[in-house]
Amino acid sequence: FILYSVFVGASLGAMPEIVSQMQAMTGATDRLREIMGLKPERDGRGEPISLRGAVSFENVHFRYPSRPDQAVLAGVNFAVTPGQRIALVGPSGAGKSTVFSLLLGYYRPEQGRISFDGCDASSLDLQALREGIAVVPQEVMLFGGTILENIEYGRPGATRDEIVEAAKLANAHEFIETRPEGYETVVGPRGVKLSGGQRQRIAIARAILADPRILLLDEATSALDAESERLVNEALDRLMVGRTSLVIAHRLSTVRNADCILVLHQGRVVEQGTHEELMSAGGTYQVLVQTQLG
Ligand code: ATP
Repeated sequence: FILYSVFVGASLGAMPEIVSQMQAMTGATDRLREIMGLKPERDGRGEPISLRGAVSFENVHFRYPSRPDQAVLAGVNFAVTPGQRIALVGPSGAGKSTVFSLLLGYYRPEQGRISFDGCDASSLDLQALREGIAVVPQEVMLFGGTILENIEYGRPGATRDEIVEAAKLANAHEFIETRPEGYETVVGPRGVKLSGGQRQRIAIARAILADPRILLLDEATSALDAESERLVNEALDRLMVGRTSLVIAHRLSTVRNADCILVLHQGRVVEQGTHEELMSAGGTYQVLVQTQLG
């Protein structure tokens, strides 16, 4: 039914609320997969498009269908060039995750335009678009299966050598090899429990294997021990090289390294620039650094 509703959704313009509910239902399964750090299901439509990694929001307005009274994004503007590293910061509820949901096409803007490489997102094949975007969520949940299968999900059909190579780049290979069953270790709800940092590195290996042009990263808020954090950050740095990365940032080190920081407040980009520029401006960002990111 969900696949059917995606299929028919485009032609139900006369019933926007039904369409948006169907999209939200589709979004629910996709979001579940996103939470698990998985790619959305393919529905077999369209050829993969070749993204270069430019992204822009032009005067994007959005409200959730279930909360029509609340303007969540109220005229968001920003432009990202291929390969740029962007940090999204702002207080809870500012709309950071919503920007990700719109980029992944879970919802459409109520007004304004989202484009990839200058093409309006609404004209692109959604599934194909999502093929070019990888998400590393805050809390990675692995599915029941082996570590090998969990990484392979990034690119089904990848060879064992390719999977091991991705695990090495993600700083995951060493801890996998210390397990008696190595890559055949069963993880997930009924398998071996991995630490938060280890699960993140599996998700990073999966994303490296997927080789996306665009990366959406929701940085973990929970503290990792210093060594685990070093390994995760090193792996993320390798993953981000040469890709457009948008990071919901919770750490000062992340924002300092960003090419551009977007400060969201009540659904608007209120400031943008580098850490130094925004600190000397002495506005919302400076307060955030002192209260949240410091
Ligand atoms: P946080 O840092 O706490 O994750 P955020 O900046 O990512 O916050 P969003 O999650 O984008 O903020 O939420 C923006 C607003 O939209 C909030 O007021 C939130 O309650 C509301 N919201 C988020 N998701 C939904 C949803 N699925 N349905 C209705 N309202 C939602």
